[in-house]
Formats: sequence, structure tokens, C-alpha cells
Amino acid sequence: MAQSSILGYPRIGADREWKKALEAFWAGKLVEAEFQAKLQEIRLTHLQKQKDKGIDLIPVNDFSYYDHVLDTATMFGIVPKRFEYNGGEVPLSVYYGIARGTKDAAASEMTKWFNTNYHYIVPELDGANPTVTENKPLKAYREAKEKLGIDGKPVLVGPLTFLKLSKGYDKAETDAWLDRLIPLYVQVLRELALEGVRWVQIDEPIVVTKIDNDDVRRLKSIYETFAAAVPQLNILLQTYFESVERYADIVALPVKGIGLDFVHGLEANLSAVREHGFPADKVLGAGVIDGRGIWRASLGEKLGVLEQLGQSVSSDRLIVQSSCSLLHVPVTVVGETKLASELKGALAFADEKLEEIALLTKGATEGRAAIASELESSERAVQALRQSAERNRADVQQAVAKLGAQEPVRGRPFSERRVAQQDKWQLPIFPTTTIGSFPQSAEVRKARQLWRKGEWDGERYAAFIREQIDLWIKLQEEIGLDVLVHGEFERTDMVEFFGEKLAGFVFTRNGWVQSYGSRCVKPPVIYGDVAFEQAMTVEETKYAQSQTARPVKGMLTGPITIMNWSFVRDDIPREQIAYQLAYALRQEVEALEQAGIGMIQVDEPAVREGLPLKEKDQANYLAWAVKAFRMTTCTVKDETQVHTHMCYCEFHDMIDSIEAMDADVISIETSRSHGELIHSFEENTYKLGIGLGVYDIHSPRVPGVEEMSGMIDRALRVLDPQLFWINPDCGLKTRGQEETVASLRNMVEATRIARAKH
Ligand code: GLN
Ligand code: ZN
Repeated sequence: MAQSSILGYPRIGADREWKKALEAFWAGKLVEAEFQAKLQEIRLTHLQKQKDKGIDLIPVNDFSYYDHVLDTATMFGIVPKRFEYNGGEVPLSVYYGIARGTKDAAASEMTKWFNTNYHYIVPELDGANPTVTENKPLKAYREAKEKLGIDGKPVLVGPLTFLKLSKGYDKAETDAWLDRLIPLYVQVLRELALEGVRWVQIDEPIVVTKIDNDDVRRLKSIYETFAAAVPQLNILLQTYFESVERYADIVALPVKGIGLDFVHGLEANLSAVREHGFPADKVLGAGVIDGRGIWRASLGEKLGVLEQLGQSVSSDRLIVQSSCSLLHVPVTVVGETKLASELKGALAFADEKLEEIALLTKGATEGRAAIASELESSERAVQALRQSAERNRADVQQAVAKLGAQEPVRGRPFSERRVAQQDKWQLPIFPTTTIGSFPQSAEVRKARQLWRKGEWDGERYAAFIREQIDLWIKLQEEIGLDVLVHGEFERTDMVEFFGEKLAGFVFTRNGWVQSYGSRCVKPPVIYGDVAFEQAMTVEETKYAQSQTARPVKGMLTGPITIMNWSFVRDDIPREQIAYQLAYALRQEVEALEQAGIGMIQVDEPAVREGLPLKEKDQANYLAWAVKAFRMTTCTVKDETQVHTHMCYCEFHDMIDSIEAMDADVISIETSRSHGELIHSFEENTYKLGIGLGVYDIHSPRVPGVEEMSGMIDRALRVLDPQLFWINPDCGLKTRGQEETVASLRNMVEATRIARAKH
């Protein structure tokens, strides 16, 4: 008999009760005992739900008070020295201190969990003296057993993955660190075995990234040690997000089960199984239900995958499961009553995926006939959406196919455009500008609410937005900025705003997912062919331009960022979705140009987020991402200046691609990267206009003139002064008016000093 399982369940709760409890606790509105009771209630509800839906191996210890990597670190007493901690179980105050910072100590760094939008807290090993402070998986196991009679499957982050995701140690000390960590894992596992735990899931997603011989040797030694120490415990080594590297070595490890992703690594994992077979003494965790996508599966197709695997693995050695933790999808479709039935019927969030897994498990054991009617209804739902008018817009598909066949290039090369643009704009050396948004005050948010509720009509709201634009155009002129912006007051979010205006998008009522800590996001859903319907930004931009003689930049979000921050359809390649977005946005670019806007910024902060995990796929992704950007921007006149903006500093390895985007000016975040970014320009001479952020916008602090002058001087050592712009790191929408004006005045003063030196 096949068994069913998932790798983890979302923490946030159907109504984000988890988030609310955390925030109430932080605000002092819940005392610790109340908070603990609330979280336990949430946790048990989630476990009970899985039991009710027929999941056999229910994960425990996947729940967290913030982040599972932080849980692992604190379980081992790995607490940075700057926090007051004297050993023993790590108190919640310290735990949240590491995650969020305290008044005396900065929070630990947070970074993306592989290629997802989930962020984990990076463990800091320097100075740590790891020891087991509490056995969290054991506690979780006992709780499930005692309260609900569930014989749970404890989940742990594996040692190699944990170590590779940590910082604060020399890579040459990797083996020494493993030697310190392995005994701690053994202690935890031994206690689990003594308790009678049957299965443990040890997550080693690191093995889908590039691993070398040393890593394979390390894995052998880790899992041989575990096998010898706890022979009675069934360890399932779990991988996800891509196909596993070194398949033959991985499946030969001395564990009882191997979990593979048959959604994101489908082809490669399937062919590895076919080619090398699967060891007869092991169980295969077959991740066939997409743990990252929101779409209902064609159960027939999935059963087909399981049947193929059945040629190498008998059904009693099969665990039918999600491709990764369900952490990355919203909780349930049940409350989505406003969606068209054809769309709602084709969605599956976490709870619906539990049902799919239970059904597939039945099908894998008893054969297709046992779930015949469900196979049919899933197929009908998938086909209904696939054949919907929204997914089959001949106009869009033909236009995009035609565009895709051409190389999108501007009329003339940058060197010539630059002359045309300088002639037209006559900007001083080191032009100053901002990234787009200005403070979204309580007043702005209130106005939007009134308008959304219908208490204000469209004209009243538009008049209010114009007043905000007036205010900030005046302020920008007074401050002395060269290139102005309208301020983006009409936008809540840079992706949502466009999603609401383009065809092919839909917004869920409750489709929240955890991004980091208590912070949740509700990504738009791209379910159909994307199309331009009417101008989206022209009115406000044109109005702003009518109020000043200085140039006002039009402001758009780029195709790749919109795509990477949305849930996207899975029936066509992402590349096609990007081109559809590019085609739609290009019509907006053209509309802006036609309306007399001569500088247009297309923001692409999220390009790097979509970078595939496999090195061999990265060049291809970057190539079509660049192409999508160029498609969006290439039709404008030579003298129209195309800007782009990117935040996050890790793009030293992407400079060639950024250059290939061929934007006349790029503004990037630098100030938080402590000048690291500037170094990367020493070897790479960037040949287009570039503005390095001279101040961090994430804090209300007003940086002084000298500080910004220092940034400018450092940048000018490696960048061509004739191409250099001066701007803040990112948009200013989360800042207050006073600090924004003060900071920008200092920035303009620092610019004046720099100009005087040149
Ligand atoms: N134009 C956007 C803004 O200023 C850019 C935001 C971003 O890069 N994340 O808010
Ligand atoms: Zn930014």
C-alpha cells in the first residue's frame, strides 16, 4: 500500500491567525502563556486537518514561531554573541531578538530560501559553541501523539543544508563544523528513536544545487553516522525545488527513504530513476503534487508519473507527497467565493492539495478505477480553465509570437542615443533623481480606502491624488532635484497596481503566503493571457509633467518583476508569460511617450529572484529576462530616456545581463552593501548611465552630507563621471515627509559639492 504525506503545512492559518498572534505578542497584547496557548491551538488545528483529509505521515516540527532555520539554530544554541544568552533553552525574547533585532543588537541577516519568496534567518556560527538546548522535534511529536493520537513524522533541516546556509565560518572549516554538529543531530535522533518515532524527514534541499565530491563524501559520513547510531529510525532524506544532483550517490546513502521532486525536477528525476533504477531496500517519497503552485493537478497526469515510477518501485514502497512544503501556497480555496467558478474550480491551495494527495495515494494502491470519477472531475476542471477564452486570446498570442521572433533593439546604440538625450535634456553633470514613490502618508492610505469603499467617487479621489502630486512636485523643485517623479500615490503596491489594470490577472481574497516572519504577501494570480486594456499611468504622469518645466519620469514595473511576484499559470512556459507582459507594458511605454513623457523608468528589482537553481539554466533565463525588458522598452525614440531600477545588491554576477538590458540609466541600491558593489565595477566597466544609491531608505535616519559625499567619491573612483547619476537606494513610500525632504536636501548638497570638484 502506498502512503500519503506532505513535507510541511503553512503556518499562517486560514485567517492569518498565526501572524496576528505573533504581532499581538510582540506588541505586548498577549502574555507568553496566552501566546503559547494560541499557537498550540493553531498547530493542533493544522494537524487535525491533515488527519481528517487522510494524510498518513503527518509532518510535525514543521510549525515554527518565526522560521524553521532559526528554530534549528536555536535548538543547537547557536545565538550570536551580541544577544544576551547564557545557555539552556533559548527564551522567546532572544529568539525574536535574533529575528527582529533589539534596541541594543541588530537582527541577523535574512535571505531567500532557495528560489522561493520565503526568507530565512541566516545562522551565525562565529563564536558559537553548539549544544542541544531542547529537542524541538521530540516535543512536537509528543504533542501530536498525546493530544490527537497522531504518530507524526518529525521534520529537521539536515546538517549539510544547515551548514551551507549558515555564515560566519571559513569554508575550509566545513568538516570541522560538521564534526561538531553531527553528534547534536545524533542526540536529537536518538531521543526520537527511543520515543518510538517511525519516520523522520531530514531536509537536504542543498543537494539540488551544485555539490562536489567533498559534499558527497560529507553526506556519506553524516548518514552513515546516523544509520549506525539510530538503526531503528527510518530516515527519509528529502530533497526539493529541483532534480537532485549526483542521483546515484544520493540514492546509495544509508537511509530508509529518499524524497524527490517530481514537479520542478520532473524530467531529470524521472530519467535518473529510469536509468539508474531505485534501490530495492528504500522507500521513494514521490513529490508529485506541486507545493509551490496554486493550480489543481490533473490527477490522471500525476497518476501517470506514479505509474512510471511503479516500474522501478513497488507501490508499498511509495509515499505520495507534495513536491515541497506547502508553506509556499495559501491555505484554502474555500473562502474564494468571488472568483469565477471555472477559475475557482481549477485552484488548489494547501487543503485542496491534501485531498489530491490522498486521492492519488488511493489510485496508486488500488488502480485508476478506484478513483475514476475524481480523475474525471480533475481533468474537467483543468480543461475548463485551459480552454477558457482568457487563456486563448488569439490577438495576444499572435502578436507575442511575432514579437518573440524579432530581436528587440533600440533604434540606435547608446553612444548615439546619449548625445540625442543630452541635447534634449541639457542635464547638469551628476543629475539627481529619486526612485519613484514618495511617502504614503496615513492621509493617502485613508483616501484610497474611502475611494475603494465607494465613499469617495473617482473624481474626488483623482483630485486628491493631484493635490499630492502638486505638493511633491513643488517640494522636488524646491529641493533642487533635476529629474522629478509624480510620487506613485495612486499605487498600493508596484505589482498589484498593474495587475488590477491588465487583463489576465485575478486577485484572491485570502491567498496569503508567508514571506518572512509574520510578514505575509498576497501575490496576484496570472491565470489568463495578459493584455493591455487601457493606459494605466498616463493620466497622473502627464498631470505631474504639466506642473513643472523639469522632466518627470514615467514609472512602470517591469515584466519580470510582475511575473516573479505573482502566482503564474503553469500551462505555458514562464518565458511566454514574460513576453506577454512585455507586450502589454510596451503599449504603456508607447502611450507615455505619446503623451509627451520623455523619460520612462521600468523597474526590475526582482530579476534575480527568478534565477534558476541549476547553473545550466541560468544563462537561458537571463537571456529571456533581458529580452522581455528590451521588448518593453525598445520602440521609443532615441531621445526618450529609458531608466530602470533594481534593489538588492547581489548582482555582481549579473552585470553583463544588466548591461544587455540597454537601459539608458539604471539606479541601483548600494548603500547597504557597504561598497561591495562598487568593487564589482573595478573589473567591469559599466558603459551606460548609472546611479548608485547614496543613502539607505530603510531607516528614518537622515544621513549627513559628508556621508553621502563619501559614497559619491568612492563610486566616482570606478565609474565614469559623465555617466553618473545621484539618487537614493529605493522608493521612499515607507518614509515620512520630513525625513525624506531633509535627506534629499542633503543629497542635493552632496551633489553640489561633487559638481564643484569636477
Ligand atoms: N518605483 C518603485 C518605488 O519607488 C520601486 C520600488 C522597488 O524597487 N521595490 O517604490
Ligand atoms: Zn528598489
